[in-house]
Amino acid sequence: MLVNSYIKLNNNQHNNKNNTNFKGFYTSKNFYKLEKQLYNNPNITKTDVTTIKNSIEAFEALNRAINKGKISANQISDQMMKKYNIPTEFHGDAFVAASAALTSNIMKKLGLVQPNSVSKAFIGDGIAGMCGIFTRDVRLSSSINWAKDAQDIAINDKLSNFSSSGHFLSTPVHEYMHSVHMNNLTDIQKKDKVQPLFPQHDIRLRGGQNLPAGNIKQTISQNVSNYGSTKPVEAFAEFTSKIICDNLNNDKQLLPKDYTIFKIFGQPVDYIIRDFWSGNFSKYV
Ligand SMILES: [Zn+2]
Repeated sequence: MLVNSYIKLNNNQHNNKNNTNFKGFYTSKNFYKLEKQLYNNPNITKTDVTTIKNSIEAFEALNRAINKGKISANQISDQMMKKYNIPTEFHGDAFVAASAALTSNIMKKLGLVQPNSVSKAFIGDGIAGMCGIFTRDVRLSSSINWAKDAQDIAINDKLSNFSSSGHFLSTPVHEYMHSVHMNNLTDIQKKDKVQPLFPQHDIRLRGGQNLPAGNIKQTISQNVSNYGSTKPVEAFAEFTSKIICDNLNNDKQLLPKDYTIFKIFGQPVDYIIRDFWSGNFSKYV
């Protein structure tokens, strides 16, 4: 199915077996234990450590709010319909609902298009999230206990260089950015002729083809993530989701802290997409 062309696999299938599982250390109180080990990993920069620290604090705050009964999936569904006109189905999962709402708020802040729908659904084992190529509907896996494991999965994916960010919101942000990308590709193609990397077939489908082995793939793998190096669409989603996650603060609103990010996602977003589309990654990685 076409819709399966755009997926983000979770680390269960791809995690580097040599990595220690840090489960149990992921609290803000004993963060120093994790921090030490993060710095020993060649895939982790100082920015990544800060992002993970902020993420853990936000993750804990969100779980505290849920445990106190302050967050209701149904209420969030109503708000997302009212505020953004997005139909949602969270099956009562307050954590997934809150993650979607936070990600929608970030999109709104950045002036980016919202997906057409968001749901928690069964999308296959080992797949964390996906976004429909044409429908731009975002789905988050019902096979994952997000409230419990989202932070651990994100850190392990980052440690193995499978994904670009260790933030617990990296999966929804990644999927939302597919939606942004798909929406913009069509507009750009209409506005002017982009010389694409793969000059055949429909413009959306081409981005879903595998990147050929070579310098571009290697550079993306080293500087963005392994998953980003699989396809042009994944390069875009991984690159942009890292920028966003590195710019989130640690309170439960998770709004962008650094307003320079607006410059990146204002008008120039078209150029980023255009560059990624044509395989011109050099200035980003
Ligand atoms: Zn993806």
